[in-house]
Amino acid sequence: MGTASGDRVVRSITDDGAFRVITAMTTETVRGAVAAQEAHGDIARRFGELMTGAILIREAMAPALRVQGILKGKRSRGSLVADSNPDGTSRGLVNFGSKHGELLLGDGVLLQMMRSLPGGTIHQGVIEVPGSASDPAAGGVVSRALMAYMQDSEQIVSTIAVATLLDGDRVVAAGGYIVQLLPEIERGPLMIMTERLQAFEALEEALARPEASPDTLMDELLYGFPFTRLETSPLSFACHCSQARVVESLSTLPRGDIEDLVKGDDVLDITCDYCRKDYQVPPMQLKPLLTTN
Ligand SMILES: [Zn+2]
Repeated sequence: MGTASGDRVVRSITDDGAFRVITAMTTETVRGAVAAQEAHGDIARRFGELMTGAILIREAMAPALRVQGILKGKRSRGSLVADSNPDGTSRGLVNFGSKHGELLLGDGVLLQMMRSLPGGTIHQGVIEVPGSASDPAAGGVVSRALMAYMQDSEQIVSTIAVATLLDGDRVVAAGGYIVQLLPEIERGPLMIMTERLQAFEALEEALARPEASPDTLMDELLYGFPFTRLETSPLSFACHCSQARVVESLSTLPRGDIEDLVKGDDVLDITCDYCRKDYQVPPMQLKPLLTTN
């Protein structure tokens, strides 16, 4: 995979109406998020896969809504967070538990997917990742988690694969796909697709090819099936934090603390956890927080 930013998502449907397929390349997006969070090794790989997964779930279930995916170990405090926005931007967060090695290892890894509905309500589903206890180090944990989520929480039969290719700590390529079976499916196409997906086990190999793109993935997945490409849209790493949002986030502090800050003359240094951007908040900017409540 070259360095040209080719992050995109492509949506297609087979002409017989049997399959809906979404493919995505997320290399630059994952690179940006992994760099901002200084993630390494296995954590970087899973973090990247969760980022791609949140994008695919949003595209499949709620393209117009913000989707957040959280992967957490049951017995550790660590978690991975991925935010995917309708404009194609994504950001993420790596919260380490007490010890780095504990993050997401051990049994009972949970996947929580949330989407913010208009009016402030949140739709969410939580599933325990199948098989994570028996083989915690295996790749594919996030793919299994996403597939179980679609089955259990969305009641949609689908195959999902996500992968992050690393060379040392460098993200070489990232991407994935979701193949959704639509209700009107007949047995013939289903058998062909089942065989296709079994033969297509090595997503990582497909992503490693220099010509890899959402279109080449689509062509491979749907080889022999007449299909129509519906839409394609760009993806990128970006954080929508701002001075105003940083100030607003301070409104959750106890009123007495805000009063003390306003009285003092210390400029607050605040770093965005998602993108590591630094903000300086002078005391006068906190004054409006005291008048609003
Ligand atoms: Zn930010």
